[in-house]
Amino acid sequence: MDGDNLLSSIRDHSVDTEFYLPLPSGYTPGSTKYVIVVGTVMSGLGKGIFSSSLARCLQDKGLKVTPIKLEGYLNIDSGTLNPYRHGEVFVLDDGTECDMDLGTYERALDQDLTRLNFTTSGQIYRRVLERERTGGYLGRDVQMIPHVTGEVKNRLRELAVATQADVVFVEIGGTVGDVENAYYIEAMRQLAFEEGQRSVCFVALTYVLEPPSLGEQKSKAAQLGIRRLMETGIQPHMIACRASRPATQKVREKIALFSNVPPERVFSMHDCESVYQIPDMLRGAGCDRAVVEWLQLDQQVDDAAEREAREAWMGYVTRLRQAARQVTVGITGKYTSVRDAYASIIKAFEHAGVRLGCKVNLQWIETSDLDDDNVTEALKDLHGIVVPGAFGTRGAEGKIACLKHARATNLPCLGICYGFQMAVIEFARNVCDMEGANSTEIENECRYPVINVLPEQKKIEGLGGTMRLGGYDAVVKAGTLAARMFGPHVRMRFRHRYEVDPRYVPQLEAAGMVFSGKSPRAEIYNILELPAAMHPYFIGTQAHPELTSRPLRPHPMFLGLVHAALKRAYTDYDEPLEFDTPEDDSEPPLEAPQRVAGSER
Ligand code: GLN
Repeated sequence: MDGDNLLSSIRDHSVDTEFYLPLPSGYTPGSTKYVIVVGTVMSGLGKGIFSSSLARCLQDKGLKVTPIKLEGYLNIDSGTLNPYRHGEVFVLDDGTECDMDLGTYERALDQDLTRLNFTTSGQIYRRVLERERTGGYLGRDVQMIPHVTGEVKNRLRELAVATQADVVFVEIGGTVGDVENAYYIEAMRQLAFEEGQRSVCFVALTYVLEPPSLGEQKSKAAQLGIRRLMETGIQPHMIACRASRPATQKVREKIALFSNVPPERVFSMHDCESVYQIPDMLRGAGCDRAVVEWLQLDQQVDDAAEREAREAWMGYVTRLRQAARQVTVGITGKYTSVRDAYASIIKAFEHAGVRLGCKVNLQWIETSDLDDDNVTEALKDLHGIVVPGAFGTRGAEGKIACLKHARATNLPCLGICYGFQMAVIEFARNVCDMEGANSTEIENECRYPVINVLPEQKKIEGLGGTMRLGGYDAVVKAGTLAARMFGPHVRMRFRHRYEVDPRYVPQLEAAGMVFSGKSPRAEIYNILELPAAMHPYFIGTQAHPELTSRPLRPHPMFLGLVHAALKRAYTDYDEPLEFDTPEDDSEPPLEAPQRVAGSER
């Protein structure tokens, strides 16, 4: 019995069979294509980057694509994970706190994703257990196969229905052989069987070693890794070889021989300067065409659209290589030893730098030991500074010292979330004479709690998904720098518990600080700036602008910072700064999207 017949024979009475196949309404098996990317040999191969680049190639051909990341861990989402161990927590517009790979997908595809694009084992098991408690399994014993695997397939099909995608890109977290993702891999084997021939393309990402002592590439680890995948009943259709240098023909042939994959479908995916070069590397190797052919999508390819999309993208890559100028920007961060904790900020600087023809060198500033006496020395080589998001107390005083120094010496400055809050504290203390001003996150009983817990947060207990999360609109004050950047309103993404206490706003404004963005519904101040008469570029936001910066649409706050840094670095630099301010000045769409978590304010 093939997949089609199997599905139709058991769809309506699955309780009586050994199968369990909840199909979302509106789903037709075989009508959606799936590209499933698994990693072998080791983690950290850049599955997300590979998968998003391949998805981008297909999107450029005019196909509708959507990604999903299947995480093996039991956490419900990434919100409670330590960025020091797992990289930054990415926040989607609907408030989902997820893996940083979702940021990679949003940037590569220039799409806003939703909770449907991300799942964890925690979510899968929660659904299964909830269904069991409500009698959803009609007396059956609930098993890993078929019930848990059935739920995984259900998630993919729900995504297919919701997005109407031609191709769903599935990235399986971890490495083949991990206990955590074994049931995901089994679910994918079943999916391929049920969806029928040529509906699923399995891509194995592997690693080709090149030990310096040998000076040549070795394929054994890759062979064993792929063998491990084949033991699960999955025959890969394509293999992508990660390597520091291009994988040689000999190595690719060896891997082909041991894995039943024709050599023309074994591709090299070697290191390159920027991840944004990878789509072109894949095209050059024919990886995109191989997927299209395997999935029989040739008829749907729009060549003209592809040429246009490719040109725009290549323009970006060319400008990246040809940066004529350089600036150095400092990032004050607690997690300075782990770059992944600031992945989106690093990318946002790349986007802004490319737009302005400038390479942005980043310098990491550990603030734990900084104070007014040593801050000048610590920041002396910088043309700009970012004080990014953070939680807790460590390094706060050092950040305040950095902000004071930036304000007093005209050093271009961007404060993000916690950094925005620290900028308010610094201004209150040093300009408004509010000695002892602080955030109640840092000092609960402080004299002037200029940063205070959001009223709605006071009643919340527990940590997971309880912050003010996701996209909200802000109304922008006319005549300000923010208005030049955004026009009359802007949507930004948030992840915070504390805010500027509105009681202190009149006093801060009287001393010169401008609150140029505010929630339309509540007394939540979202953007601050110092007027041009006080500072060349000093801006802060309670939101996370780095999360919505895209390669061809750099976020204006980063663009502004790099531009101001260029002016500081090059006295003859006089290029005007133009923001892509939306022309439409209609009323803001003040509706919040369907929330996953957080409040509706
Ligand atoms: N800890 C601060 C708050 O909860 C800032 C959060 C952040 O920077 N993301 O408001």
